[in-house]
Amino acid sequence: MNMIFERKLEIPMEVKKRFPVSKEMEQTVEKRQAELQSIFRGESGKLILVIGPCSADRADSVLDYIGRLRLVQDKVADKIFIIPRIYTNKPRTSGDGYKGLLHQPDPNEKPDLYKGIIATRDLHMRAVRDYGFSCADEMLYPENHKYLDDLLAYVAVGARSVEDQQHRLTASGIEVPVGMKNPTSGDFSIMMNAIRTAQHKHTFIYRGWAAHSLGNPYAHAILRGYTNKHGNMLPNYHYEDLMKVYELYQKSDLVNPALLIDTNHANSGKDPFEQPRIVREVLTCRKYNADLKGLIKGFMVESYLEDGNQPVGGKCYGKSITDACLGWNKTEQLIYDIAEML
Ligand code: PEP
Ligand code: MN
Repeated sequence: MNMIFERKLEIPMEVKKRFPVSKEMEQTVEKRQAELQSIFRGESGKLILVIGPCSADRADSVLDYIGRLRLVQDKVADKIFIIPRIYTNKPRTSGDGYKGLLHQPDPNEKPDLYKGIIATRDLHMRAVRDYGFSCADEMLYPENHKYLDDLLAYVAVGARSVEDQQHRLTASGIEVPVGMKNPTSGDFSIMMNAIRTAQHKHTFIYRGWAAHSLGNPYAHAILRGYTNKHGNMLPNYHYEDLMKVYELYQKSDLVNPALLIDTNHANSGKDPFEQPRIVREVLTCRKYNADLKGLIKGFMVESYLEDGNQPVGGKCYGKSITDACLGWNKTEQLIYDIAEML
């Protein structure tokens, strides 16, 4: 092979043994999982808000952000269920650039995957232990899911991964809700097929094991906008798109129909300041149509301490080094506005 094998990494069981969750942390994760599942089953009418930076580039500013979210969450707890984004691995459109905390625990140093696995687990553990938040991460590498499966509240399969069989099969063996994004091309059927695959049982090879998955009844849809053949970003959060997803669910045998709207990426045309407007529009559609109210369970928002983004190596604390984000003041206002609109 044209590859150098640098070192053998610890398997998830060994890493978990070295960095175990306490009884208290386990209870936090379980309690939140039960509440989130009840939202997906339609037993709780709370709105889900998956919110946080595009990438969790450094622990201090991400935990600072999560600490602020904690205070807001406690104020809106009767209406909104917040899941912070701790996205530790980033898909890259052209392959180059910062690939996340997993690859580079320090974005200014060269990749160290051994340290990256530990840094990723440590950050998710601290969110649970110190702030009572089990969080969301993107499953970019399905084989790595088990390093975090005792900590996560929510898993997203990204627009570039959603058509991949191993992602879909692994999602079918995950207990927590898995959001399947529409692909970058925008084809809804790819997203719906991913949900169908994930909701069913499968037999496949996972981490060198012959494995059987039980199916994930909480696999669901996320609309994130799309890019056409001319490279233009186009939204898919308008009324007709929402209704289309509703109809596709109606025609299917899928359980727990659910849709989250990603307000950034191609939906905002990568303008993070459009996100509050997009939330408002979708909440209006949701109020107007009872079917949509049942279907649309929440939002995914890209937000951090500072507005916008900066290049990797930029010195601004709490400013994204990947997609541009909504800063803290606007974020806090947005969450209170959502609570008021519900
Ligand atoms: C993200 O959520 O930051 C992301 C990379 O999303 P998508 O897969 O929709 O591009
Ligand atoms: Mn992003």
